[in-house]
Amino acid sequence: MMVSLVIPVFNEEEMLPRLFGALSRFISLEQTDKREFEVVLVNDGSRDASWALICGQHEKDPRFRGVCLSRNFGHQLALTAGLDCARGDAIVAMDADLQDSPEVVGQLIAEWEAGHDIVYGQRVKRHGESRFKLWTAHGFYRLMRLISRDRTPYDVGDFYLLSRRALDRLKAMREHHRYLRGMIFWLGFQPKAVPYQRLERKAGVTKFSVARMVRFALDGIISSSTMPLYLASYLGFASAVVGLILTVWSFVVHYFQPGVVRGWASTVIIILFLGGIQLISIGILGLYLARVYDEVRGRPLYIVRENTPGTGGQI
Ligand code: UDP
Ligand code: MG
Repeated sequence: MMVSLVIPVFNEEEMLPRLFGALSRFISLEQTDKREFEVVLVNDGSRDASWALICGQHEKDPRFRGVCLSRNFGHQLALTAGLDCARGDAIVAMDADLQDSPEVVGQLIAEWEAGHDIVYGQRVKRHGESRFKLWTAHGFYRLMRLISRDRTPYDVGDFYLLSRRALDRLKAMREHHRYLRGMIFWLGFQPKAVPYQRLERKAGVTKFSVARMVRFALDGIISSSTMPLYLASYLGFASAVVGLILTVWSFVVHYFQPGVVRGWASTVIIILFLGGIQLISIGILGLYLARVYDEVRGRPLYIVRENTPGTGGQI
């Protein structure tokens, strides 16, 4: 049996030496006659020495393998690239910054050996994150749960284990705008939760700016739900009802208060109201249309520039 640890890496030169140390210790503890490990590191267009460090580590210990993308494709696609070339019977997706600690990986593997196909880490506490991030993440996961049919649980990041058969199903889903932590719950297989405390980043800084978080949140909503499209229709319906009420009201005013000069205020209100709703609805349509456009172009999800020797495999 082989377990692959898949780790996207973007400008993590400060983190990598610690990561290699922690993983080597973890592997020597957990490795047995029946259980081997490999580590797949995907360099997501880093502009620092990350790739050189990965190659160096591969030479020292060939269980560490590297895939180098041609530019920065973003966390989700880098993770996809790693999942595509992982060879394990189970794969674990985790971050390079040791926020998801190797001890918890041991627990994920134990649950897999107990027969679960999908085992995910659920954060019960997050250390060292800004209040803004905690608060927005809290709101976002609850919103997702409300509008999505995939039953994505609260507070789950890209830290999970997939069995080979679950991974093969996931690999068949080739959409461009990915929200992997939602897609794994679409697969079914009765996912099993492992609660854990998310630690703080050990070195370096977060690679997610607010703009990136917003884009990722939109991808999450749009890839797991068509609710906003319905919302546009509901808004249209609601505005029609408001229009009807205003019509009745203007008749009442006309008959019961003759001679009063009225009209401009209600006209302006109606125009603004309808205009707003129409723009919102067109915007929502546009968001979905843009994604359809990205899919029909059928471009590859990512481009690999080079691999460490013996890694192979590009989609
Ligand atoms: N990452 C990546 N490409 C990107 C941004 C991030 O591969 O464009 C990697 C990063 O190196 C790390 C993981 O994704 O291993 C999670 O990023 P980070 O820790 O910055 O996110 P946070 O934990 O703050 O949400
Ligand atoms: Mg992090």
